[in-house]
Amino acid sequence: MMYAILFVIIGFVAMELSGWFIHKYIMHGPLWSIHKTHHQPNKGFFELNDLFSLLFGSVAVLLIILGIGELDYRFWIGVGISLYGLLYFVIHDMLVHRRVKVFERPKNKFLLGIFKAHQAHHATNKKDDAVSFGLFVVPKKFYKPKEK
Ligand SMILES: [Zn+2]
Ligand SMILES: [Zn+2]
Repeated sequence: MMYAILFVIIGFVAMELSGWFIHKYIMHGPLWSIHKTHHQPNKGFFELNDLFSLLFGSVAVLLIILGIGELDYRFWIGVGISLYGLLYFVIHDMLVHRRVKVFERPKNKFLLGIFKAHQAHHATNKKDDAVSFGLFVVPKKFYKPKEK
């Protein structure tokens, strides 16, 4: 049981860390042409940037398939990545970008910090001057009440 929880957490944390890196150096780098569709007004429901979600999702599914026989570390890392993806969708796509209009602006202090940090990321639609590339781990200043 501890083994499972440990690897779920590893999968989750690895996604926030690698997500931050990929977002900052690759999506706002060589693959900006794909990611910029997420920084521009969206016409339809899907955007080219969703390819990244598909990629991360495939990695999770692959790990789950590889590890499902023995329920080994690969399975649980895959579960951790899936859990991250699910929470990412709820917070990033539903709460912040309102692709599915279920939630209003959050009142919870932790969620509001994430919300404001990601809005700050979207304050620009350019490749080079964006801030705040992670989702769950954000600079402390976004938790302060006066920060808009
Ligand atoms: Zn971005
Ligand atoms: Zn966004």
